[in-house]
Amino acid sequence: MLEDKNTQRTSLESLGEFALIKHLTQHFELIHDSSLKGIGDDAAVLDFKGLKTVISTDLLVEGVHFDLSYVPLKHLGYKSVIVNLSDIYAMNAKATQITVSVAVSNRFGLEALEEFYAGVAMACKLYEVDLVGGDTTSSTKGMLISVTAIGVAEEKDIIYRKGAKPNDLLVVSGDLGGPYLGLQVLEREKEVFKVNPASQPDLEPYQYIVERQLKPEARKDIIALLEKLDVKPTAMIDISDGLSSEILHLCEQSEVGCNLFEDKIPLDPTVISTAEEFKMDSTMIALSGGEEYELLFTIDQKDFDKIKGNPDLTVIGHMTEKKEGAHLVTRANTKIPIQAQGWNSFSE
Ligand code: ADP
Ligand code: MG
Repeated sequence: MLEDKNTQRTSLESLGEFALIKHLTQHFELIHDSSLKGIGDDAAVLDFKGLKTVISTDLLVEGVHFDLSYVPLKHLGYKSVIVNLSDIYAMNAKATQITVSVAVSNRFGLEALEEFYAGVAMACKLYEVDLVGGDTTSSTKGMLISVTAIGVAEEKDIIYRKGAKPNDLLVVSGDLGGPYLGLQVLEREKEVFKVNPASQPDLEPYQYIVERQLKPEARKDIIALLEKLDVKPTAMIDISDGLSSEILHLCEQSEVGCNLFEDKIPLDPTVISTAEEFKMDSTMIALSGGEEYELLFTIDQKDFDKIKGNPDLTVIGHMTEKKEGAHLVTRANTKIPIQAQGWNSFSE
């Protein structure tokens, strides 16, 4: 799992930029009718025939957003795509195309980029999106990745952050806190490895949370589920920066308040046991951890029966009048104001 320093390394200069792009992208096929022209001209050409286009971009920087000493490049390629697709699904749109741009220093060889693109290809295949372009360049230090995801939706179906009303129910998909604790485990193993390179990390007990960190999924399935259940959320956002931060975005843009119930927050047993081991509070981790790429949304109370009992969806609170503010209602039934404690790449 830790970076293998002995793999073969073909220098990128020996190939040249055009041969490199061709080599990396040759196996990508276009599956959408809307992809009129993909890679190979000055720009891609798309046609959504009167539907609305939804676009989202992320920039990932080595040392800030990822650490290659424990993130395999294939996983990084996969995750770089997933985090963008998640934003498209959070608009209740269908993701259809991506562009991928990379800058690498001379530390990286062809084999490293092949690994990265294998992860990109896996995500494209699983989520049915076309790779239609990108850019490739060098950097003086480290790796930078920018992915743009493009999606499509009918105007009436698009869900913004702003539509929540007082008394709407607050719902989250999946469970929270896993990716953050998975990262803590990986960081700990990295320190052990530094001291004793011969050590073999035993990640078995942490498999679920390490996978949640290294190989997150975007909730395309939840978008399909909501459609099947005939539930249209009133507001929606994906959880990248932590539950509390995302709740505050919904509250601010919808001009409402919120009561979030501590005892309702969905936690995997591995999250509870690992939080105990690290002497951390699992509620705090669920509030501030981030990188779950779960969907957080509000629904009208009349839709409660349609989602009730679904194992992938948990009602964790309800919206209130704005003047009531946003609060966590603890197990002890005290009310604590929700603060944004999401991870901010500018904070350190
Ligand atoms: P330009 O000089 O106009 O930027 P490039 O030579 O960089 O053109 O790109 C040629 C084609 O290859 C374009 O279609 C571009 O979108 C695509 N491309 C370049 N780099 C990548 C990449 N890393 N991943 C996917 N497509 C790429
Ligand atoms: Mg270019």
